[in-house]
Amino acid sequence: MAKASKAAKYVYNFGNKKADGDGSMRALLGGKGANLAEMTRIGLPVPPGFTITTEVCTYYYDHKRTYPKELQRQVEAGIANMEKILGKKFGDTEKPLLVAVRSGARDSMPGMMDTILNLGLNDQTVLALVKVSKNERFAWDCYRRFIQMYGDVVMGVQKRPGEDHEPFETAIEELKEKLFPGQHDVEDTRIDAKGMKELVHRFKELVKKRTGQEFPTDPWDQLKGAVGAVFGSWMNDRAIVYRRKYNIPQEWGTAVNVQAMVFGNTGERSGSGVAFTRDPASGEKVFYGEFLINAQGEDVVAGVRTPEPVAKLKNIMPAAYAELERIRKVLESHFKDMQDFEFTIEEDKVFMLQTRNGKRTGLAAVRIAVEMVKEKLINWEQAVMKVPAEQLDQLLAPVFDRTAIRSAKVIAKGLPAGPGAATGRIYFNAERAVEAADKGEKVLLVRVETSPEDLRGMIAAEGILTARGGVSSHAALVARQMGKVCVCGASAIQVDYNAKTMTVGGQTFNQGDFLSIDGTAGEVYAGEVKTAASEIIQVLVERTLKAKDSQTFQNYDQLMKWCNQATRLQVRTNADNPEQTANAVAFGATGIGLCRTEHMFFEGDRIDAMREMILAENTEERQQALGKLLPYQREDFIGMFAELKGLPATIRFLDPPLHEFLPHEEEAQSELAAKLNVSPETISKRVKELHEFNPMLGHRGCRLGIVYPEISEMQARAVFEAAAEVQKRGIKVKPEIMIPLVGYPKELQLQIEVVHRVAEEVAKEKKTKFTYLVGTMIEIPRAALVADEIAKDAQFFSFGTNDLTQTTLGMSRDDSGSFLPRYQELEIVKQNPFASIDQVGVGKLMETACELGRKARPDIKLGICGEHGGEPTSVKFCHRIGLNYVSCSPFRVPIARLAAAQAAIEEARAAKKKK
Ligand code: PEP
Ligand code: MG
Repeated sequence: MAKASKAAKYVYNFGNKKADGDGSMRALLGGKGANLAEMTRIGLPVPPGFTITTEVCTYYYDHKRTYPKELQRQVEAGIANMEKILGKKFGDTEKPLLVAVRSGARDSMPGMMDTILNLGLNDQTVLALVKVSKNERFAWDCYRRFIQMYGDVVMGVQKRPGEDHEPFETAIEELKEKLFPGQHDVEDTRIDAKGMKELVHRFKELVKKRTGQEFPTDPWDQLKGAVGAVFGSWMNDRAIVYRRKYNIPQEWGTAVNVQAMVFGNTGERSGSGVAFTRDPASGEKVFYGEFLINAQGEDVVAGVRTPEPVAKLKNIMPAAYAELERIRKVLESHFKDMQDFEFTIEEDKVFMLQTRNGKRTGLAAVRIAVEMVKEKLINWEQAVMKVPAEQLDQLLAPVFDRTAIRSAKVIAKGLPAGPGAATGRIYFNAERAVEAADKGEKVLLVRVETSPEDLRGMIAAEGILTARGGVSSHAALVARQMGKVCVCGASAIQVDYNAKTMTVGGQTFNQGDFLSIDGTAGEVYAGEVKTAASEIIQVLVERTLKAKDSQTFQNYDQLMKWCNQATRLQVRTNADNPEQTANAVAFGATGIGLCRTEHMFFEGDRIDAMREMILAENTEERQQALGKLLPYQREDFIGMFAELKGLPATIRFLDPPLHEFLPHEEEAQSELAAKLNVSPETISKRVKELHEFNPMLGHRGCRLGIVYPEISEMQARAVFEAAAEVQKRGIKVKPEIMIPLVGYPKELQLQIEVVHRVAEEVAKEKKTKFTYLVGTMIEIPRAALVADEIAKDAQFFSFGTNDLTQTTLGMSRDDSGSFLPRYQELEIVKQNPFASIDQVGVGKLMETACELGRKARPDIKLGICGEHGGEPTSVKFCHRIGLNYVSCSPFRVPIARLAAAQAAIEEARAAKKKK
């Protein structure tokens, strides 16, 4: 619990090239606060201000939403510092100091937290602003904006359930209708001073009507309210949803930044913008961004007006543009990363309001990292660290099928905000989109513009389409980070929320109709358009594109080469057939870490032989059925060994509860009976006999091979006969036979005997020799706890963390969906333990098993083959506990390779620091 102490410093000032903090203090000052301090220090034009630390946020929640005593005095000193620098006074009726209050968490949370601008205005100070600025319209515009933001964020005047528009926006629309009857899309800039005054009046009335309270007039009260609202918003629903998605701990808290206002809305020589030092969608090194003349910052991101590309500033305000270009270079060479920054131009002078490492698509992340090394801005290790492993997923995202797209019709164009191709049924509201996606529909979320309330719908959708807003609008930012396909600002589209339709070029689309979007080109197509694989897939998997013709592939390949230079942990794959094996090897897998042999029996009529085996009443019958399965299994192994070309293959013996293979419906049972030439009653009786109350804890894993050794015999024979065949072709084969669900050393010993015996038999028959290992999975706690005993026989361990999580937590991996989301909401678990290893609990068992295993057998090979093997945080954990490899699904191999390389670099850096 954070404690207040007399000496504690809660407020950090910045201004006039001096700052109490710096860029390294993100934890305390939040990302925005730390970088405002850093930019001030390096001499960039930053309006003065101060940051209230994240410790105050923690204190606030630990102390029933109250503040440390010292805070008020420190805030007053902070304001006094700003007053001194600017020669203005807070609440003054001649030269009033106006401030912006913004949140700033450690990691940016776009759109999740709230901002209040122009704080300090009231009926008196607004008159002073009129005088000082000699611009009546501007002053009243500031005032109405202040009431609007403060009314929304602090006083809660917001859209009510069932309303599609914000009440303040409705008031603006009503006034526009009065001033410009019958005209559509009237820009706010056409409302004059008198109109703005009228809006201030209407807004105050609205606040009074909705809250029963007068709008506060004392600037200090306003400041207190705003700071409280920022801290309060840390726990609002949107922020919680966002934190959960991105695993941001609640205890980090947010900082509050109070900064002197600069004005982008004083007229035609002013404006506001958001820019990126490189293109965040493609990664191309161009100055990228957008601005609005005569506007405050919020207008740009809110998507209310569609902004202009920043390049246009070159003609409109050449001096300001040159200054921005200079700043762009300073930022990249100082922060060594692509920056996303906010600026305001007040009467031709540029001010910096924020900078942060820019969010980017996976495509851009790889390109920027690779090109920055070429430009000698960073080294290759930094490049590897710069690409979030999870984002590689996006590089593998689909594009439209080239033939299908030729016959598709572009119905609208917007901005390319999130790359990739998506097709789905359209929904105009987040809730309905979620409902449809839950039913298994592919969904596109279509909105006039999105706001953080739409987050759930955006997560559920394949893609997002908006009619308004630019590339830095909420929709664009969020989509990019999620790797969602997104087209925004497709202004030809008219959305009618009430009728649940959208109209474009005279054509109307109803809710549920198909639409397709290309987030790389910014195009919207009518109907469903087939999608095709990404360029990397086309080069590596489909082999329809040559590496030399794809810059994207070359960048990816360079990154993967650097990964190999750094990595210690190998990445294998979970594959059950030759095609999956080939894909994984193309992605750089160094072997198979798990072949689930039962998956080989699901196809075609193989299942019949499998069922015959299960239904057998005695060993003889069983052996007969197994005889039918042997050739299938052998053929698959031959294909896989051939694809592996000498790489190792971990082959797991039959594992699942047998009843999974049996038909449970009457009709299917009769069909099977006819095929096997037995009565339907025989089948239904046997199915009933095989019924288990807890199949996951029942007759499965090695318990099958213990009770029916002939199953293991057949599987061993298939492996070795296949090995003999492939070896004959001059290809090395390295089988690693894996016994599942072992808890007792004796279980493993019995199965090993079978394997060795069959190996010898086949070697003799085929006049050959085999090099192979026999090991076990560690997937129940007992195995981890007696790992030293087990390691006497096991040549390798592979952690089956799906089952190990299930058995350690006593939580069914198949049934946890009904309660885990609530557990995550309540932060009982920080992350889904079936997705990311529970390092504290399950992880401890893994560490124990590694330690005990190595003690008994120093050269024991250690791996993981649960789903966690492709999840970056878990991969890093596996590196730290010294596993030899992780194994994951083929398409996650690049992600695991990157995470493994990052883990090695992190380790080396930590060791260097220690020295
Ligand atoms: C595991 O339990 O982690 C595992 C890989 O085996 P399966 O998922 O097949 O039970
Ligand atoms: Mg398992």
